Amino acid sequence: MPPTTESHRAFEAASRRMPGGVNSPARACLSVGAEPVFIKSGEGAWLTDVDGNRYLDYVCGFGPMILGHGHPEVLAAMHAQLDRGLSYGAPTVAETTLAERVVAAVPSVDRMRLVSSGTEATMSALRVARGFTGRHKFVKLEGCYHGHADALLVKAGSGAVNLGTPNSAGVTPGAVQDTLLAPYNDLDAMRALFAANPGEIAAIIIEPVVGNMGVVPPLPGYLEGLRELTRAEGALLIFDEVMTGFRVALGGAQERFGITPDLTCFGKIIGGGMPIGAYGGRADVMGVVAPEGGVYQAGTNSGNPVCVAAGVATLDVLRRDPVHDRLEALGARLEAGLVAAMQQTGVQGIVQRVGSMITPFFTEGPVRRFEDVTADAVARFPRFFRGMRERGVMLPPSQYEAWFISAAHDEAAIDRTIEAARESLAAL
Ligand SMILES: *Cc1c(COP(=O)(O)O)cnc(C)c1O
Repeated sequence: MPPTTESHRAFEAASRRMPGGVNSPARACLSVGAEPVFIKSGEGAWLTDVDGNRYLDYVCGFGPMILGHGHPEVLAAMHAQLDRGLSYGAPTVAETTLAERVVAAVPSVDRMRLVSSGTEATMSALRVARGFTGRHKFVKLEGCYHGHADALLVKAGSGAVNLGTPNSAGVTPGAVQDTLLAPYNDLDAMRALFAANPGEIAAIIIEPVVGNMGVVPPLPGYLEGLRELTRAEGALLIFDEVMTGFRVALGGAQERFGITPDLTCFGKIIGGGMPIGAYGGRADVMGVVAPEGGVYQAGTNSGNPVCVAAGVATLDVLRRDPVHDRLEALGARLEAGLVAAMQQTGVQGIVQRVGSMITPFFTEGPVRRFEDVTADAVARFPRFFRGMRERGVMLPPSQYEAWFISAAHDEAAIDRTIEAARESLAAL
């Protein structure tokens, strides 16, 4: 059954012209056995679809919309820039302002480079790490997502932690031959990988809090262990904070957990909803980037003035208002409510949360690594998703996603979500 008439028509038309009817696969909602609804507008914590249905939004653009939709200061900053031009191919003062905001918020970043997406940020950071160390191999954690660059598009597959197997057609074995895989939250496995590849590993790239297998926090001591190990081995530690940056704290996961990586990748919130990304870190490491050094990286739209205006305005609101305290409180309220709803309905599950990133897993135990997300849990999620959407709550369409709370959500919105969850769980 199509969810709504106008959305169904829009989806049919879109499917004729775009693979899956979408421009990014998750949006097709295939894994939840539903058709996507097409969105007409967003207002604060709410989305309105082309049929006029309204939804409380926990997708939040897959992360960027931490201030909610249509924040007046972000829109005003963008409008002011629109009147002055869209793109110059020459530097603007605002790019330095954005860099200064990031450096002030994220102490490990001395210098940075703006790009146009999170994918570009991780791809470039990796190139910089290899250029700086002169080493080829790097370690990626199973279940972490770093965008769709070839070398990073590798997941858990065979269970052999040191053999990268591509999980996308079109990614050649050659492109991933230097990609080593390790299970998340397992320091011994990481030590073994370094021991097996002495002096060859340029970097570990990691989501310091995983959002892309659902929310999985680092175990106590894990990030500290990676920091020590990389330092001892002459490798770089790259935090992919595309999702966690400016969200789990103003200074990201590295502030929250007190770890100093060598390089950090940003995306999502740093553009306030506009396409942007950034990577940055130690001054000596960033010194290898062209034109100062020999690592080439460039972009026609890098530092686009309209995107930068949205980013600066978003970061200014985040550092001025006590947004993160509010998000923490709302997150705790949602977590407690979801746990209670599971207990009341007798549905097996646990809730994992870091700040305003939250995932209820339909698992028996905690999720610490990718394999802990059981097939059963994944199979239960689609009906829950559809139940929530029917009740006016828009969740990200997979068990493997983080839900995001925005500053435009309030206690009434959270309570309404908990009530919808209670009903949807009871109907499972
Ligand atoms: C979203 C995401 C990316 C990719 O960013 P895009 O802007 O979609 O290219 C990379 N890393 C993490 C952790 C992400 O959540």
